[in-house]
Amino acid sequence: MTPNTPSELILLKVGEVALKGLNRRSFESQLMSNLRHRLRRVGRFSCEMLQSTATVTCLEEEDPAALLLGAPSLIDRAFEECLRVFGFVSATRAARCAKEQQAICETAASYLKEQLQKVRTFKVESKRADKRFPLTSPELSALVGGALLERYSHLKVDLHHPDLVVRVEVRDREAFVHGDATPAAGGLPVASSGRGTLLLSGGIDSPVAGYLMARRGLRVDAIHFHSFPYTSEMARQKVEDLARLMGRWTGDVDFYVVPFTDIQETLRDKCAPDFFTILTRRFMVRIAEALAVEKGSGCLITGESLGQVASQTLQGLTATDLVAERIPILRPLIGLDKDDIVARARHIGTFEKSIEPYEDCCAIFSPKHPKTKPKLSELEAEEAKLDLEAMVRDAVERTELTMIKYGM
Ligand code: ATP
Ligand code: MG
Repeated sequence: MTPNTPSELILLKVGEVALKGLNRRSFESQLMSNLRHRLRRVGRFSCEMLQSTATVTCLEEEDPAALLLGAPSLIDRAFEECLRVFGFVSATRAARCAKEQQAICETAASYLKEQLQKVRTFKVESKRADKRFPLTSPELSALVGGALLERYSHLKVDLHHPDLVVRVEVRDREAFVHGDATPAAGGLPVASSGRGTLLLSGGIDSPVAGYLMARRGLRVDAIHFHSFPYTSEMARQKVEDLARLMGRWTGDVDFYVVPFTDIQETLRDKCAPDFFTILTRRFMVRIAEALAVEKGSGCLITGESLGQVASQTLQGLTATDLVAERIPILRPLIGLDKDDIVARARHIGTFEKSIEPYEDCCAIFSPKHPKTKPKLSELEAEEAKLDLEAMVRDAVERTELTMIKYGM
């Protein structure tokens, strides 16, 4: 890097975290720890929090040979990562320079050259965190605007509908210059709200549910019920892949696989077929709750949406809610249409994996006419035929954990 090339950094604006009053410090420290963890797989970066803005600076030299071969630069890759860190509302690449009028004008003209050449109108907006800076914000904007007009003769100033807003921020130690920001992931820092256990099937809905709750600050573990050999090893692998894809947003995922075959066979052999689906779901919730509580998780999360299938009627949801005795079941998709859910699945990058055609354990032994309005007394009569506690304990004991490290 030659000395007069402006050095680039990433600026990330903090969202709701800034509103958290006394908790703000712990929110910010969680946010920065999440950010650093995220960037560790890209390279060495320094991340600092300054007045509700995080700065990300690369501490490593780029590899010129890799860049020549078309590989994305470290800062390109870091920027992509930053867009998936919950807690930031916008991200922008910026140039840093000395807090001097000449340097700021020079930097604006050179750093934003490509963007300025493409547009016809612009305006400059300045902010001073350092009130000792000799110019007021409007004076600084006018100065930089004048310098840009001189350098680029095709440009005109438009204060109301500019094609590009050139932003100058004068901070305590230095100044930043940048163009428009990109919307980032929003929400709250993962783990700032505690931990949740997502019931993850291979379908479209549940990864979206996990994404939404991580966005509200939960660290998300996933639990999957697998009925080998009725559901194949490939089906299990698909769900692990989904957990990994979801983890691009939610971070590390503890992925639990519960062997579910024995329970489903017992239900098939001992209980009335029409109740099979809802009894299966009650077992899922019992086992998930036992495991969640053991692991210190404070809620269950499902991808259910009201009325979507037979087990998601109000009566079906009531029947499953009633078996969760210690923690709530959160259903972030409850009021969404399938189209909305699909659009979100595409946005987070799980849709293509979800539609791969592998069977789910919900589909095996499923009755032709599942009960859509099961009576609690009927369900309890069926369950009275079983040793519930032993079945749940056995399933929890045989559950296998795979730790999915973010980005691996
Ligand atoms: P999805 O697209 O998430 O599979 P779905 O429309 O297929 O949803 P159901 O099969 O009724 O709906 O499942 C509802 C919810 O129950 C899922 O979103 C998921 O949270 C949970 N679930 C279903 N099957 C499993 C499974 N095998 N393991 C873990 N959770 C499951
Ligand atoms: Mg499903």
